[in-house]
Amino acid sequence: MASTFNTRGIVINRFAHREYDSRVTVYTLDFGKIDLLARGAQRSGSKLAAHIEPLSLVDLMIIKGKRTDYIGSAIVNDSYAAIKADLEKLQAAGKAINVFNRLVRHDEKDETLFALLAEFLDIISRSDQKATRLLSLWSLKFLAALGYKPELYNCLGCSKRLEPTENYFSASRGGVFCPACSKNEHQSEKLDETSVKIMRLALSHTLSDLANLRAEEKDWQRVGGAINNLLNFNIHN
Ligand SMILES: [Zn+2]
Repeated sequence: MASTFNTRGIVINRFAHREYDSRVTVYTLDFGKIDLLARGAQRSGSKLAAHIEPLSLVDLMIIKGKRTDYIGSAIVNDSYAAIKADLEKLQAAGKAINVFNRLVRHDEKDETLFALLAEFLDIISRSDQKATRLLSLWSLKFLAALGYKPELYNCLGCSKRLEPTENYFSASRGGVFCPACSKNEHQSEKLDETSVKIMRLALSHTLSDLANLRAEEKDWQRVGGAINNLLNFNIHN
């Protein structure tokens, strides 16, 4: 008898496989990121197909195969309808899923990463905060969870505590430099005190606490730019 496992997962993506099947990448609570075969999901009228749409929280029964594991059954727990009905939310969720997929390796269970992704999808579903702002805050928390937490309190050059002035952020060095040390850091960008504060808050609070964080649009832009640079650096290096 084949062995089966039950787990909860977030569907990351899905591709056609052979004539009638699909290959689905799921980030599961119990096994981390795994690829599964969904037999017959490309056939018209497949009941399984509707339950393995990318960007949904599903309860899965997995059947262990000789060469590949496949989905025995899937039940949607949350289809995130509010995200799919809002273009800005959908783009932010798509970006989060994409960077998550690029930076998270296969077959490594990590309940913190699972909770972080699930919390993000849950919060952008119901928050009035701009999805792009929540995406920036989430991205920083996600990078920190992967071990890429930037240094935001002491200068990376001289180790002195950063003064509340205009400092410099370097995505490639992973943190902030004081004005004096920044002269040797050609790839650093100015980062004002408010932006540094927002980034510190992002790392010390839950996303749900951060959902009501107020700042001016220019501050969000700067923070978003710095976090995006950090994200891109870690994706490409
Ligand atoms: Zn310094």
